Amino acid sequence: MKTLLRISALLCASLLASATSHAALKALIVDGQNNHDWKGTTPHLKKYLEETGLFEVDVATSPDNKGDMSTFKPDFKKYKLVVSNYNGQDWPKETQAAFEAFVRDGGGFVSVHAANNSFPNWPAYNQMIGLGGWGGRNEKSGPYVYWEEKSAKVVKDMAPGSGGHHGPQHAFAIEAREPQHPVLAGLPTKWMHAQDELYDKLRGPAENLTVLATAFADSTKGGTGRHEPMLMTTTFGQGRVFHTAMGHAGGGKRTAQQCVGFIVTFQRGAEWAVTGKVTQKVPADFPTADKVSLRE
Ligand code: ZN
Repeated sequence: MKTLLRISALLCASLLASATSHAALKALIVDGQNNHDWKGTTPHLKKYLEETGLFEVDVATSPDNKGDMSTFKPDFKKYKLVVSNYNGQDWPKETQAAFEAFVRDGGGFVSVHAANNSFPNWPAYNQMIGLGGWGGRNEKSGPYVYWEEKSAKVVKDMAPGSGGHHGPQHAFAIEAREPQHPVLAGLPTKWMHAQDELYDKLRGPAENLTVLATAFADSTKGGTGRHEPMLMTTTFGQGRVFHTAMGHAGGGKRTAQQCVGFIVTFQRGAEWAVTGKVTQKVPADFPTADKVSLRE
């Protein structure tokens, strides 16, 4: 009897161990329409999440722009995290409402690059992403937001004008503005990001917005001459949102998403969006202040 008890205790312990070591957080990547290479990037975004050992990842692909969007109804509430690799037609009202409820009730959301171009006319979505670009965005969408070096603070600028712009792609430095934030803690405060579009002139409600890191949009590279938000967080109800403006992919290239800085901040932002903490270690191949680092 004693032996039997001991065996069943051991069995329980090993079952518990396998349950806790198993990826416990369910994540969903949404895609299906994007003026970027979503087919080429979603599998990698999925792999990056899985590599953390934290996430089990599904993908929900919407109909294309000739299909029937009314059929697109992912069951968001099955998940702890939704990642958007989507930039396209409006979702049905029912799907929008379900997504709002998901984040409001505490779901995590990660917006990648052109996901912030999506849904210019969906107020709650713009509150979630904080800032967006293109799609007719202008001063009615909210302020421009950038980092002012001399006052060392974030500026909200209501000047009229269009939202969303970038110059030719190039490698550029990312500078931490909230280096103690869990997503950035332990990372170099300045690192080189691989060739990407440097989004500038983003505008949006910018409520509950924290600018974690910026990049200088050099006017000699077609930029604004301002320090533009690259990594951001917002809250929406009980939900946390991590927004990376980085990650252009197209024309058979996804260099910006091969950047170890992109990968690591994406992985850490995803964990933070779900738990409010980051347990991941900084990898040895993280870029430095003067050297880009790529994987694959
Ligand atoms: Zn792009």
